[in-house]
Amino acid sequence: MITKAIKGTKDVLPKDVHKNQYIEATVLETAQKFGYKEIRTPVFENTELFQRGVGDTTDIVQKEMYSFDDKGGRNITLRPEGTAGAARAFLENGLSNEALPQKVCYLASCYRYEKPQAGRLREFHQFGVECFGTASPLADAEIIALAKSVFDELGVKDLSLEINSIGCPKCRAEYHKALKEYFRARQDELCDTCRDRLERNPMRILDCKSPICAEIAKSAPSVLDYLCDECREHFETVQKYLKAENIEFTVNPKIVRGLDYYTKTVFEFISNSIGAQAAVAAGGRYDGLIEELGGKPTPSLGFGMGLERLLLLMETQGCEFPKSETPDLFIAALGEKAVLKAVETAQDMRAEGFSCVYDLNKRSLRAQMKYADKLGAKFIAVIGDNEVDEGITKLKNMETGEETEIALDTFVSGYYNITLSEQLADIEINGEAFDFGSFFNVGDKE
Ligand code: ATP
Ligand code: MG
Repeated sequence: MITKAIKGTKDVLPKDVHKNQYIEATVLETAQKFGYKEIRTPVFENTELFQRGVGDTTDIVQKEMYSFDDKGGRNITLRPEGTAGAARAFLENGLSNEALPQKVCYLASCYRYEKPQAGRLREFHQFGVECFGTASPLADAEIIALAKSVFDELGVKDLSLEINSIGCPKCRAEYHKALKEYFRARQDELCDTCRDRLERNPMRILDCKSPICAEIAKSAPSVLDYLCDECREHFETVQKYLKAENIEFTVNPKIVRGLDYYTKTVFEFISNSIGAQAAVAAGGRYDGLIEELGGKPTPSLGFGMGLERLLLLMETQGCEFPKSETPDLFIAALGEKAVLKAVETAQDMRAEGFSCVYDLNKRSLRAQMKYADKLGAKFIAVIGDNEVDEGITKLKNMETGEETEIALDTFVSGYYNITLSEQLADIEINGEAFDFGSFFNVGDKE
């Protein structure tokens, strides 16, 4: 092999992909129920967008971005998160002039140069939602309820929801002062990054993963003691709505989020089952972001959910996944005439919505049967020269071993008849078994 996959990236193999597809379909359906429509934005953007939209003092911008000059000399960055791109698209495409709020969601691959470990990759995937253009605490409660619905829908248990308010620039100024004072007293013990953060953005220190900084942060002043009246009322109202929706939460004043421009509500869904990488979803309000990117003041909010962590959590908890799809029918064909018939029949079956495959390698019957078994085909039909001449073969149910005659000319209606009557064996009409195949009248040739 000439080269291996890049460190921190992962292949999803065909045997596992149904799990990802199930999660992806479920999150999009749930978002749709709340009125969020999918938006698709590019994987790369101008580096400046993330410097402004994520924030210069964040770990992401300082240490984690995949940035490079393209052949035209533009400095470009692979998106480390989804909000900045969605916000840019909102502004650039004039969505800001349409009915507000604009509610969008996305599935996005994200790129961060981090130390890879379970639940922490360099290429990972996020499901995110953004709600642009509402200051209402109803929206804060709505996106939290949406995230919760995703977990409920997927059967994920034992997540704790932690919420906090980090105030607005007004009340935060006072809080920053208090924090600086507190951390300055223990400046020498802080890690290098945090010493640097002390003057520029002391709240970041509360988010530091180094054990010493975390220990010092434990007794730091609480942001909740510094909220202005408006921010306090907003936070109380969000909590009132969450209670009304029976969503359990705890208030954790240490949650500050990794991104700048967050205001008021921030939250995380945390699991104890997947080790250190415990935050499965995180988000909050970012009332300052759109203005920061050059738009009109537009209060907004959103969250990102890590799909690899979600999958890891579901597997750890033994959540149920739908089975991997297997072919409805495998046609084993022997001889050129039979192959032609198999090709034609397979197309008829597919046109009716069934999955139907045959051997591409012209192998012996034995080998074809083995192959069909490996594929997990639900039914098998064998076609040789005799079957083509007589126009009849047998449909074998691979689960029960039962074989039923089936006409090649009306194969699809025969297939309906056999499979449906097996499933609905008890249904009788006027005392007679119901003939599903004739009823649907499909697959009949002129
Ligand atoms: P963490 O504190 O674990 O580094 P974060 O605060 O950097 O997370 P966000 O930027 O809020 O994470 O991203 C939202 C979600 O995306 C996280 O809650 C997590 O589930 C997921 N996520 C973030 N970074 C990674 C990564 N490197 N690998 C896999 N999932 C990730
Ligand atoms: Mg991080």
